[in-house]
Amino acid sequence: MFPAPFEYKRAHSADEAFTLLGLHGGDARVLAGGQSLIPAMRYRLARPAVLVDINPVEEFSYIRETDGELRIGALGRDAALESLAFIAERYRLISDVSRVVADPVVRQMGTVVGSLCHNDPCGDWSVAALASRAQVVVRGSGGARTIPIDEFLVDSYTTAVAEGELALEVRFPTPGARTSGAYSKIERKVGDFATAAAAVQITLAADGTIAEAGVAIGAAGPMAMRVAAAEALLRGAAPSREAVAAAADAARALADPTADTRGSAEFKKDMAGVVVARALASALERLGVEGLR
Ligand SMILES: Cc1cc2nc3c(=O)[nH]c(=O)nc-3n(C[C@H](O)[C@H](O)[C@H](O)COP(=O)(O)OP(=O)(O)OC[C@H]3O[C@@H](n4cnc5c(N)ncnc54)[C@H](O)[C@@H]3O)c2cc1C
Repeated sequence: MFPAPFEYKRAHSADEAFTLLGLHGGDARVLAGGQSLIPAMRYRLARPAVLVDINPVEEFSYIRETDGELRIGALGRDAALESLAFIAERYRLISDVSRVVADPVVRQMGTVVGSLCHNDPCGDWSVAALASRAQVVVRGSGGARTIPIDEFLVDSYTTAVAEGELALEVRFPTPGARTSGAYSKIERKVGDFATAAAAVQITLAADGTIAEAGVAIGAAGPMAMRVAAAEALLRGAAPSREAVAAAADAARALADPTADTRGSAEFKKDMAGVVVARALASALERLGVEGLR
């Protein structure tokens, strides 16, 4: 199908993008990688009157470490993350995700910020952002605001970005020496959305117990969800098979997936526990704790 008619506006600078979005308000949609928006327009699930293409805005295209954070601009693409050595070495959770989002062709265009703004219930980046306790910087005519990811993700395909606003960047805390993470995704074939997915970020205390835990699941409800019960039981616990099993059970209890071509609700609920156990065991292995599988 062809999209409904729309006006196409190309922004060449950040200021021009903000002006265009301010001018067209709720009629406008930002075009980033276009990997979700263009298909939605072709199926007429989205009918924006105006598209504001931000691709020429070079100042949005960055991935850098600043003030203890990894900052990914509105045009930071999945493929760029995948190829950066410092991401592979130090941001293990982000590195994992950058290799399993969609397929290599989609990753050439798809952006991390665009994925968060799209907030697909089966999207990968929102799961990782929750486990990492990321923040998103949003800017509109009223100025910029920094929004914790738990408040940024509102509902399926809905975020805290208001009419006329643009998400400028996402900020992931830089993991310290005793922090690591992992992503586990079950997919029917390479390039598919998740049947079940989990992100885990763990910080160990000096005595080897778990000081801090971030645990989130995807494809298990209307949007990615933090498994607060798993985080609470892991905090202060010694890494053990029992702790991994308890975290997996907490994920199963929270998961409320819908049946579709990827599986029954019962199967996906069970897989929510499987992916949490796998991600947790991988994160702990990366911190030197073996034997938890
Ligand atoms: C074949 C295929 C397979 C895929 N598989 C997966 C998968 O396995 N996992 C997964 O997570 N995703 C998958 N995707 C989606 C893909 O990762 C998208 O690239 C991503 O979800 C959206 O990023 P984008 O940059 O393309 O955003 P776009 O499509 O350009 O935009 C998506 C939405 O976000 C809004 N938006 C984008 N950027 C901003 C911004 N800076 N400020 C405000 N609003 C903004 C747009 O207006 C639009 O509403 C797949 C896509 C395809 C085509």
